[in-house]
Parts: sequence; structure tokens; C-alpha cells
Amino acid sequence: MRRSIPIIAFILALTFVSDASARGAMRPKIISRAEWGADEELLTNSKNGTMSLNASDAGETGRLSDRAKECNDWKRKYPQDFKKTNLVTHDSSGQKLRWAREYSPGVKLLVVHHTALKLAGDDRSPTERMKALYTYHADKIGWGDIGYHFVIDEKGNIFEGRNGGKSVIGGHLYCGNTSTIGIALMGNFEVERPTQNQFRSLKQLLSYLANEYALNLNGKVRFHGKLSSPIVGHKDAGHTKCPGFNLDEVMPQIRSQTAAGKFGSLIISPTSKRRQDSTYARKLSRLTNLEARQPILRTVGSTEIIGRPGSNLYIQLQYIAGESSVPRRARLARVERSSNRIGVWQKINGREILVRKELISPSKIKSRDTQVMQLRIQLPRQARAYQLKIGDLSFTLRAEGRRVPLPESARESRQRTSLVKERATIRESQNQNETITHKAVASSDKTIRIRLSYTNDIIKIETNTLSKVNGQPTGSRNLTLQKEGNKCAVRTPHRNLVPVPTPKHAQQQYVPQPQSAQDRNTGGMYLSRESIRIDPISGTSTITNWPRSANRFRGVIECRVIDNELVLINELPLEQYLWGLAEEPDSEPYEKQRAFAIAARSYAAHYMHPKNVKFPGMPYDGDDSPARFQAYGGLHFEEKNPRWVKAVDSTSGLIISKYGKIVKTPYFSTDDGRTRSPEERGWKGFPFSEVFNSNADPWCKGMKLRGHGVGMSGCGAEGQANEGKKAEEILDYYYRGTEIKGLP
Ligand SMILES: [Zn+2]
Repeated sequence: MRRSIPIIAFILALTFVSDASARGAMRPKIISRAEWGADEELLTNSKNGTMSLNASDAGETGRLSDRAKECNDWKRKYPQDFKKTNLVTHDSSGQKLRWAREYSPGVKLLVVHHTALKLAGDDRSPTERMKALYTYHADKIGWGDIGYHFVIDEKGNIFEGRNGGKSVIGGHLYCGNTSTIGIALMGNFEVERPTQNQFRSLKQLLSYLANEYALNLNGKVRFHGKLSSPIVGHKDAGHTKCPGFNLDEVMPQIRSQTAAGKFGSLIISPTSKRRQDSTYARKLSRLTNLEARQPILRTVGSTEIIGRPGSNLYIQLQYIAGESSVPRRARLARVERSSNRIGVWQKINGREILVRKELISPSKIKSRDTQVMQLRIQLPRQARAYQLKIGDLSFTLRAEGRRVPLPESARESRQRTSLVKERATIRESQNQNETITHKAVASSDKTIRIRLSYTNDIIKIETNTLSKVNGQPTGSRNLTLQKEGNKCAVRTPHRNLVPVPTPKHAQQQYVPQPQSAQDRNTGGMYLSRESIRIDPISGTSTITNWPRSANRFRGVIECRVIDNELVLINELPLEQYLWGLAEEPDSEPYEKQRAFAIAARSYAAHYMHPKNVKFPGMPYDGDDSPARFQAYGGLHFEEKNPRWVKAVDSTSGLIISKYGKIVKTPYFSTDDGRTRSPEERGWKGFPFSEVFNSNADPWCKGMKLRGHGVGMSGCGAEGQANEGKKAEEILDYYYRGTEIKGLP
């Protein structure tokens, strides 16, 4: 109380001093992009972008479905507010702009924002902050430029934002970027106040822009059907707290003083005036201070995260400690999600840890210190909007478009075997599936090499993880294979950057590949070798130009030139190969599937033995054709036939054996009531031929012989399974005198 009386007197004295300068058109000093040092390369090249957000969706809250509906309504009802002109896709030197420029035919609204980044405790200079904001919008969240047209710092400096000149469309207002200009004031005005210098520059800039775009500041405009002043705060036009309470409450003063050309007049916060007048002032101010000392969790970017269903996106959160420090591993914020299919991982000491209910502090955070936390969000496979709450932050996740090629289904992550990190995550979360994982690891150590039947002059492969090529990280998911003489050459399209481990809360850093592996033209990887091995690590590869759905595979894809053709060989654990074996779909009885799983494993394992090669001199064990080996459909078949996968798992590692050796177990489709012996087929020296003597096959009577007729028939196995026989009995019938055993 004692101090507030002279302050009020001082403020009142100044309120009535109006600005002497002429109203209107004077252009305030605007610090150009060149002057503040905008890295113009970001307009055309990403340097380290990780997220794929949409510039048209500046951070707002509220249910997305409602907002999208509202937006569609507006587009239908007020098409003139959404008209754009003059699409510019390339810069003056012909380089493609990451965010193409579009222009509004006219501007209706000047929209005032805050950056929501608290100035208190931020030691950076305004220019440094401006550069960081620009890099964040342009690269970190991938827009290709800053969303605001202008930014005003606390000293009143006005920075030029979005590149492109008059009427260019920015990114600051969901569903309202067309016909509007966005001006952001640095600060978080939920907890701080703008400075008088900021107010003065804001008014000057608004006045200048009103003149530039012929807006009547004493009149009203109709935007999306709503009548308002041409000067609004973000929250007047969107669902957000922006520009923050302390700026929002003085917007009427800003409007009237701008219209009157009173740029130098003080802007007075009604709340602070009331507070100073109040006998409860002390109590209130103590309360306010306390509030300011509470820890704060915030995201610098949009709370709207958009990606393809099943994709992984990265977000950064900042945790600002309150009055007291926070110990290591303390619980920071609750995590709640609208679907438990939303995956959340927190990076702690370089490792990703599965988040179940809470974020934890990666390390000790001192009082008022800021801790940056990196999260990986995996969108569910179903395309729609989801909600994710972290502390008080509410994120809208939009899974849109085509699914990423590789499913992260529960089954897959359970059966995933090779990635140590993944296993660590499972262990960390004390996942009950741990034992299953270990079982799969134990039975999948034998690998098989299958030649795929696709060939082309150029083969394109997309992996669902960052792949390695011949042991080198590519930093890329897209690879192009091409024949170069008798060698296979691989290229990645992008600048070939590889993530390197970084200390906690530093941003992920990237280093270029060793020069030897670089393509001079693209900066991507280039490697030409007799064999190129693409390893998606724990992920999978899609041969994108193979025009069929069964074009996705687990394991390594090896490229070679054989007989002057580009050949792909899929190398993977035997059990994973069997999951994709397209011989017994789920339309067949389960015990028949189990019998075939064992027979197919025996057949493959027989040919994996160096003494029994099926294709002598060739660098593979089998191929994907049923005419030459066994039909193989990879991941597509697996996904369509979960019961078959179960049949393979339930017989994991089991084969047909005689005298301790693996029996090659031929099988075929149908016969006419009896099977054939190898001799009858003219197969000389067939191993264990006594096992395959001709058998009565009454379940197949009346059918035609299709296939070679030796060994187990599909029709007979089906008939016996339908009679209630077990796989073991069926196998015993067709492969006489053999045993079912584990792989030697
Ligand atoms: Zn805003």
C-alpha cells in the first residue's frame, strides 16, 4: 500500500499526455530479416526438422473434431474469406520453397499474439530469441518459415517475420490465416505484462498496417460471419489463451489509442489498478507471486500434432522448476490419453523409456531452472483425432492419411526380436510379454535367405525405421537400388545425416556421413558393391515399386546382380520367414496349419544345410515361388493370417526327423485317392524315400492330382483335421516312421 499511492499518481499524470506525432501512415522502424540475420536457407532446406506439423494450425486448444467442423462450416459459408491468390512455389533462384507462398486478396484482421515464452529468466538477446523462434517454426516443427508476420520484443523493436512481402499468408490462426496478419509480442502474458515500449511499437505497427491494408480502425469488419474490430487478440478469433490475460484485458485501450494515434499514451492494466486500489492488495500480490513460482510445463510449439497413422513424431516440452528444486526421477506430470494405442516415450539419458502414467525428471532440476524434455509420440494406426494430456497441456493428435507401411501391432512388438533397445523398453515397463520375447529370440537364431521374384532396373525401398546399409547408418528411410555393371548401387535422396548421441537436454545433433559414402550431387549416401545389405534394424522394408500388396518384408534385404539382373534376397530368422509363408491361410483348419508349419519348417531347414543346397552356386537358400521352393508373402500374409502365425509359434523350432537328421518333407495340393512314391515320380536317390511310399488318401477321393503327389496332401490333411486329428497324427500318417523333434 505504502508504495502504490505515488505510482498511481504518476500513472494518472501520464495518461493524458498524447503522442505528438501524426497519426496513421508513418512506417515504424522494422528490423528486416537480413538485419536480424534470418537464415534464408531454411526457406528451401531443412537442416534438422523432426516434426511434421501443419503451419496452418497455430497452437490452439479445444476438441479438434469441433474445430474442424467449425472450420468447414466457415469455408462453406464464407468462401470469400478463404480466397487465395498468387501461389509461389519456388524462390527467385528456382529452389523449391518448403512453405509455398500464397497471398490474401485483402486483409481484414490484424491479430495480436504473445509468444508464450516467459522473458523473466531468459538471458538471450531479443535477436537471439527471434532467431530461435524462427528456427523453431521453420525447421524444428518443419513449416519452412516463421508463422508470424511481425514480432515485437520487450524493448519495442519490431522484427520482420514471415517472408514474402505484402499480403503474404502466414501461420498464426487456425482456420484463419487467409485475410489476416499475425503480430506476436515476446513474453508470456498469462504471467507477465507487456512493456510500455512494446505497447507503443504495437500501436505504431497496427496503425501503419491499417493504412497499408485500408482498414478503418473506428469501424467493424465481418470475418467468418462475425462482426469485430479489425484489431483483435488471438483468442477473439480462436480457441486459445493467447495473447495472455494481461494483454487481452488491455486490447480495448490498444484499439482506441491506435485509432486516435496516441502511440505514446500509457496502457494501464485494469486488474493491476484494481489490485493497487484494493485493501487486499498485499494478499493478492502475495498470491500472484506464489503463482509465478509454481513449476510450469509448456510446449513451445503447437499443441496440435499431425502425422500419418502409426507414425512417430517428436515433441519437446520445457519444465520450469518453481521455488524448490526437483530431484532426479521425480514425477513431473501426469500423462493421460484418449486411447491406450497412443505410444509415449520419454528420452532419459539417451534412452527412450516407455511412459505409462507420468513424466519423470531426467536429472535434478534446480530452483527456477528449465529442463527440456524430448518425447516420442506414436500415433495409433486408426486415422482419427486423439487427445493426449500431459500435466495441464492438452495435445490434439491427428492421425491422417495413409498408414505408415509397418504396423506396430501388439503382436509385432511382442515378437520383435532383434533390437536391444526395444527389449530394454519392455523390461523397463515390466511388460508381461517379456518371456514371450525371449522365447522368440531363442528359436529364431537360424536365418534363411529367400530370393524374391521381383526385378527391375530401379528398385525403390522404404524402411519404417532409419536403416543401415552395409553397417553404415543412412539417416534415411528411402533407398533407391540400381544395377551398375555387376554391382548393386544404393542411393539415399537426402543430405546424409546421422544422429549422434547427445548429452541430456541438448538438441539431437547430426553429423555427415564419411565422405567415401557420400553422393556428390545430393549429399545422400551412395554406395556401389557386389552386395548391398539394407537393414531396417528392428523394422521392415517395403519394395514400393513392386505393384502388389505382398511387398513388405522383415529382416535384411540384400541386393545383388545375378545373370545381369538386379536380384533381392530377403534374409531373416527362419521362424519369421515361416510367419510369412503363404501356403496355409486362415481359411484352413488349425491342425492342418500346424501340420504344414512343421512340414514347411523341415523342408526349409533341410535346404539350409550346406550339403543340401537347392540352388547350387547361388547366394540364397530358397525363393518365394511355390513352383521352385515355397510360396512366401512376407508381412502382408502374416497380417492377414494371424492364426497361421499362431500355428507357426505353437510349433516353434519343430521339424520332422529320422535317424537324427532333418527329413525333406514334400507336400502338395490334391490327389485322386492315393499319394505317389518318389520312384513313381522318377525322383532318383530321394533321401529317406521309404518314408514316402504310396499311401491311401481316402479324404481326397474323386479329386484330381494337382502337384507332384509325394508326401502330405492338402486335401488329406484337411480331411483328417476336420475329423479331429492332431497335427502330429496327420504328419505321422504321411511321413511314416519319422519323429517330430526340435531343430538340431
Ligand atoms: Zn496466438
